[in-house]
Amino acid sequence: MSASLNLKEHLQHPTFALIGSISDSEGLETYVIGGFVRDLLMYRKREHYDIDIVTVGSGIGLAKKVAFAIHPKLNVTVFKNFGTAMFRDNEVDFEFVGTRKESYRRDSRKPIVEDGTLVDDQNRRDFTMNTLAISLNKERYGDLVDPFNGLGDLEAKLIRTPLDPDITFSDDPLRMMRAIRFASQLNFRIEGGTFSAITKQADRINIVSKERISEELNKIILSDKPSIGFKLLEVSGLLKIILPEIQNLKGRESINGIYHKDNFYHTLEVLDRICVNTDNLWLRWSALLHDVAKPVTKRFSPALGWTFHAHNFVGEKMVPKLFDRLRLPLNEKMKFVQKMVLLHMRPIVLSEEEVTDSAVRRLLFDAGDDIDDLMTLCEADITSKNEEKVTRFLANFQLVREKLKEIEEKDAVRNFQPPVTGELIMETFGLQPCKEIGLIKSAIKEAILDGEISNNFEEAHLFMMKKGKELGLEAVKGKG
Ligand code: ATP
Ligand code: MG
Repeated sequence: MSASLNLKEHLQHPTFALIGSISDSEGLETYVIGGFVRDLLMYRKREHYDIDIVTVGSGIGLAKKVAFAIHPKLNVTVFKNFGTAMFRDNEVDFEFVGTRKESYRRDSRKPIVEDGTLVDDQNRRDFTMNTLAISLNKERYGDLVDPFNGLGDLEAKLIRTPLDPDITFSDDPLRMMRAIRFASQLNFRIEGGTFSAITKQADRINIVSKERISEELNKIILSDKPSIGFKLLEVSGLLKIILPEIQNLKGRESINGIYHKDNFYHTLEVLDRICVNTDNLWLRWSALLHDVAKPVTKRFSPALGWTFHAHNFVGEKMVPKLFDRLRLPLNEKMKFVQKMVLLHMRPIVLSEEEVTDSAVRRLLFDAGDDIDDLMTLCEADITSKNEEKVTRFLANFQLVREKLKEIEEKDAVRNFQPPVTGELIMETFGLQPCKEIGLIKSAIKEAILDGEISNNFEEAHLFMMKKGKELGLEAVKGKG
């Protein structure tokens, strides 16, 4: 065991020393292990830490004693089935577990667990960089315990399993997703043998719950450069199992020597580009899915070449099924993604033509408060290799943004409220609920969006009277 490195000056949280001294008096060997140690050695700052503590003995018993010493009333959450316990101290979650040995059956991620040594426990962990442990007992306080050369792998930016990777991944196939997620988050390479085991075992991802898979997918999408993760998912064979819709984007077909672009790589470029401008997970999902219907809408005609007619409409319809399958939320977040997919071409189409007020007004009306996100998506979508074209698009885009601002200030259609209500229309013409009311309301809306009248009560009211007349309605006496 290498114990040459001492890290005590990094163990500043007072609870570390407390855990050490209670362990000493209980005769327990205790370590901090996992993500906290890895990130500390990488000088990686995190907003929120969960700190994993492992002890050769009862993790639950130790957690209770430490919590009591911090404050007799400090709440400890015990997961008896997992043999773990946790408490929160100064915004930091401490999770305790006893060192254990695990063995697996083929059809389940749930191991058979026995007590074990520290090395047994390190062996059951996913990657060498996650086996790094720091001793908390007084005599060895701060010593790094690293039997698998996790430190060397960390320095080489390598993801490698401590055991034979075939065993590690077959035992718990979620680790394949974790490997790729870490590669994407940390910009690490997956060691050759480890990666080829993922390729071999890809099918076993089917025993992992959809929720777990999506959790890792979300972490990939939230990394700085998600294309790293998605390329690895694709090459390993995992993508076609978990996200066949994205796999289907890959490839370039040619007819009469005319190719279309590879929409998989295009999508990844859009996704990477949007990550520079937003941390919003759902906007990032929108980038991933914006062209999802291209494969199913693809047509070739000699006159037009390749077309993907209505891929935005079809894509919008594909989102709920995909979200449902991956157990992603089926609420307003999904609706937001659908809306982005549906509208993703609107600003660009607009900027290709002369930017008219009424087109901008309609865009504002349809996008509502999501207009800024839509513009962010659309800007990321400009990935042509033709620099001249990109420059022109971006300049036009600037124009669209200015127009959007100008028109919103003038007409306030972003959160459109009809200036004349249905009740007023009924009252004015003495109507019971009927289709004419809807006709008049939508005629007013269209007139405002087309710029025929301004978005205010006076002009809308006049227009209502005119429209009523056209429909053969008469104002009730004293009204209108
Ligand atoms: P992060 O907190 O950034 O997700 P982490 O490495 O701390 O990264 P956790 O899920 O918090 O990951 O797990 C803590 C530790 O538990 C890991 O470092 C690893 O040692 C071990 N671990 C977690 N999940 C697995 C798994 N599926 N198989 C083996 N070991 C695991
Ligand atoms: Mg963690």
